[in-house]
Amino acid sequence: MTEPTTLADLPLREDLRDEHPYGAPQLDVPVVLNVNENPYPVAPEIVADIADAVARAAVGLNRYPDREFLDLRADLAAFLRTESGAELTPEQVWAANGSNEVMLHVLQAFGGPGRTALSFAPTYSMYPEYARDTLTTWVAGRREDDFTVDVDHAREQIRRYRPSVVLLTSPNNPTGTALPLATVEAVLEAAQDAVVVVDEAYGEFRRSGTPSALDLLPRYGNLAVSRTMSKAFSLAGARVGYLAASTAFVDALRIVRLPYHLSAVTQATARAALKHSATLLSTVDELRARRDETVAWLRGNGFDVAESDANFVLFGRFDDRHAVWQGLLDRGVLIRETGPAGWLRVTIGTADEMQKFRTALQEVVGQQ
Ligand code: PMP
Repeated sequence: MTEPTTLADLPLREDLRDEHPYGAPQLDVPVVLNVNENPYPVAPEIVADIADAVARAAVGLNRYPDREFLDLRADLAAFLRTESGAELTPEQVWAANGSNEVMLHVLQAFGGPGRTALSFAPTYSMYPEYARDTLTTWVAGRREDDFTVDVDHAREQIRRYRPSVVLLTSPNNPTGTALPLATVEAVLEAAQDAVVVVDEAYGEFRRSGTPSALDLLPRYGNLAVSRTMSKAFSLAGARVGYLAASTAFVDALRIVRLPYHLSAVTQATARAALKHSATLLSTVDELRARRDETVAWLRGNGFDVAESDANFVLFGRFDDRHAVWQGLLDRGVLIRETGPAGWLRVTIGTADEMQKFRTALQEVVGQQ
């Protein structure tokens, strides 16, 4: 009898040997505030519309889905027009299974061996993984103590590393920091040989009056703005992310995508949901208000808190953040151990969930 094969027996790429699958713990606990989901489930009438649309799609599941999904891309363009006043054709919009996959398409098309992707850390911890998986060199510049990006430092990093991809996250994960458009523009001016992607996964939660990087699209053919239906839209389970850019930029992504990557079920779900975007996004104001309350409460209780334009808050600082994270988990509250040493990140949940978080945190810190 042969021994069962282990990973060491398989010809795994050398650079993947010590790697682990990415992902926060998925635990069955009463209060889940660890992956920046929207705490509110999709309303029953929208669930019914999605189910109808999926049933209609199911009738045709013997056929491959619409490979170019221009109807969905038109619906997404219409949504961005309403949300940010962006004037986009369907050909300027791209979508995939979460903005994770959109970003992988970007790295597949514009990264690769001998090329560099640049971002500014602390930032979203999946970026180095997209780089690794596409054999792109990863360089992380720094963020300042308040987690903003210093324009001179950004220019200097671009000059030094000559990246082909620059990733800017606004609002940034895990810090919540929004970037002024002037910073994005300065990076675009300095990185004319690169593509610049502004990851606005949390864009809908930005403070009112703050413009989206979508405003810059008419002037920069190398700019892309990525968004997702996972956060503000309450649709993390549907896996729909999207991006707006020039038609040429989108055409580059069409080269590397797998044929039929977006299933007919996913397309139907997204289109049905987009008909209800106003209702789905109606929780955003409440979550923003609760975020600001949470920041005020944490500061009032002596914690350091990063300014947040997102649906989560980075707070600290703790000598032993793992002990605090564990103490909260022991009380049924799951948050995220991420970000710079000493900090923790909590997603904004319902009023009841945030009350449980506050009570648990006071108990844990009181015991230390
Ligand atoms: N970008 C950022 C900054 C994120 O925080 C996330 C999810 N945590 C994503 C992209 C990916 O989200 P999704 O694939 O669900 O669209």
